[in-house]
Order: sequence, then C-alpha cells, then structure tokens
Amino acid sequence: MKKICYIVAMEAEARPFIEAYNIRLVPDFFAPLPCQLYEAEVNGSWLYVVLNGRQHEMDLVGCEPACVATQVAIQRLHPDLVVSSGTCGGFKMKGANIADVYIGNGAIFHDRRVSGDDEWNVQGLGNYPVWEGSAELADKLGLKMGKVTTGSSLDMQPIDRDIILEHGGELKDMEGAAVGFVCQLYGVPVLYVKAVTDLCDGGESTYEEFSRNLKAASETLRQVNEQIISELLR
Ligand code: SAH
Repeated sequence: MKKICYIVAMEAEARPFIEAYNIRLVPDFFAPLPCQLYEAEVNGSWLYVVLNGRQHEMDLVGCEPACVATQVAIQRLHPDLVVSSGTCGGFKMKGANIADVYIGNGAIFHDRRVSGDDEWNVQGLGNYPVWEGSAELADKLGLKMGKVTTGSSLDMQPIDRDIILEHGGELKDMEGAAVGFVCQLYGVPVLYVKAVTDLCDGGESTYEEFSRNLKAASETLRQVNEQIISELLR
C-alpha cells in the first residue's frame, strides 16, 4: 500500500484539493503541535494532507512550521513520497504567468548568508534533490519545471534576487527547501508542485498580487494535484 503525504502551508492552497477528494480531518492527531492531518483512502492507498496549522488566527507560513510539519509527518505517517504543494512567485523573464503550475527540479535557500564562510554557504544554500520521477511526471502532464528557491520573506530584496538568479531559481516560496531539508535527512523523496500567484519581476506589490491571485492559483493547483494523484495512485 502506498502512502503519499502533502505538506501545505496555507489552508486556502489545500482547501479545493481537500474538498475534491473529500479528505477528512483527523482532529488533534499531532497535538500539541499546530499541524493538522487530513486523510483519505484512494484506490487502496493513503493520501495524507498535512497543513502547517495556525497561530494567532493566521496560517503558519515559512520554514520553521514547514520543518516541524514535515518532520512529524514523516515520523508518524511513514510516507513513500512527500509532496510540497503551494503557491510561489514566478519570474516574467523566465516565462512564468499567473496561475501556471510547475514541478520543481531542485530546491535551494536564497536568504541564508554567512559571509566569508564557504562551507556554511554551501550548507546554507541547501541544493536538495527532488524525487527522481519528477521530470517524467512533468513531461507526462505537460508541466514546466523550475528550481524552487526558498526564503523567510514574501518580499524580494536585491541581494535575494542576485542569489536567486545566480543559482537559477525560478519559483520563489517560503517553505520548499525547508521541506526538502527534512526529506533529505530521512531519505524520503520529495515532489514539488507550485502554482504562481505573483511575478517577482512584474513591478507590482507582491502582497497585493499574491492576495488577488491566491484563489485562481489554488484552483489550478487542485487540477494538477488531481492529475498527479490519478497518475501516482492508480
Ligand atoms: N499574510 C499572508 C501570508 C502569505 S505568505 C496570508 O496569510 O495571506 C505567502 C505564501 O505563499 C507562503 O506560504 C509562500 O510559500 C507563498 N508565496 C507566494 N508567492 C511568494 C513570493 N513571491 N515569495 C515568497 N513566497 C511566496
């Protein structure tokens, strides 16, 4: 029996997908942690969705909640595959459009800088591997691929931009590499599925663009995730 575990930061990103599969909440499964487990049986396999959870009436976005959620999900659920699914910023100059869905072909951190320390900088960058079936899946579903680049902020400072471009980053988010870090420690493969809510080089306020497009991007994310589930859990 296969087990696939989605790790998702925002309820709005997961809600259309949860509803499509009628995935049920398992209350307090991870208590006292804020993470929330949803589960469903699909074609004799387990489909899990773990949300980072909420604090101060807000979804917990960012690397720390993503690490906690991934860690506890792997330890308690033993998934065969983790899927880091959510929204991201894209780059117009690299051909991204709002609501495009990408499959990740690598994951780095872009805002961890310790100047003068080359070894730490290698560790800081991360460069985590993705599930080996990612390219074949992207090809089959006709999806673009791009490198996930993760930091702790929604905005993009000039130094972030330089590091992102220097290392070929394309999909700017706040959780991907953190999920990849934990998956690498456990040797669990990770697939990235990312929908574009905003264009980092589009000249608009990121927060406004993100807020305006969150619903549409979460909807294309649902469509692609349904295709992925029917490929992976036949
Ligand atoms: N206060 C906001 C927080 C959203 S943070 C709210 O609750 O509505 C943005 C989320 O979307 C993060 O989980 C991040 O992974 C993703 N994201 C979308 N566009 C991004 C961008 N341009 N840069 C970084 N993260 C982005």
